Amino acid sequence: MDDYILISWLNDFIFCPVSIYFHQLYGNKETLLYQNSDQISGKAAHKTVDEKCYSTRKDVLQGISVVSEKYGLVGKIDIFDVANGVLTERKKRIVNIYDGYVFQLYAQYFALMEMGYTVSNIRFHSMDDNKNYDILLPCEDHIMSVKFESTIKAIRDFSLDDFQQTNIKKCQRCIYEPACDRGLI
Ligand code: SF4
Repeated sequence: MDDYILISWLNDFIFCPVSIYFHQLYGNKETLLYQNSDQISGKAAHKTVDEKCYSTRKDVLQGISVVSEKYGLVGKIDIFDVANGVLTERKKRIVNIYDGYVFQLYAQYFALMEMGYTVSNIRFHSMDDNKNYDILLPCEDHIMSVKFESTIKAIRDFSLDDFQQTNIKKCQRCIYEPACDRGLI
């Protein structure tokens, strides 16, 4: 499994590749130390799924681990309604739909399809304002599909030694900034 990429890295990598290293370094032990309040409440949004108490329906998969052999990705889905083919990723509050969010959903989609499920609809759900955001399937959005694959390749090719952060705004809102020697602050 060493060569597998965690699905969550797709979003982290786009924000800043170095943040992946901090995730690995601190893991879950230091969650409270290194997460800001937004991220903690975001985790709370997923708590019901992680504890598998969102639904008792047998045709709803919740928080299960998935793997895509094709892309070398491993991670967890949020909620998949098997009967309707609807894959939903809930977030505390969605203000923008970043590419990294979409790539995570793509990864879950491909993994489920490889596992033999039919996924016909992928979407985000913003819990605070109870809004759904439907996302085009990868086969319906060529540009995003190409970006998805190039991001995976960029993660595999990434060299920390050669990386230089150039966007100070990212460092200003980065939870790892106090511990990061690549930061611009
Ligand atoms: S402080 Fe800046 S360089 Fe360091 S992980 Fe955060 S965004 Fe990246």
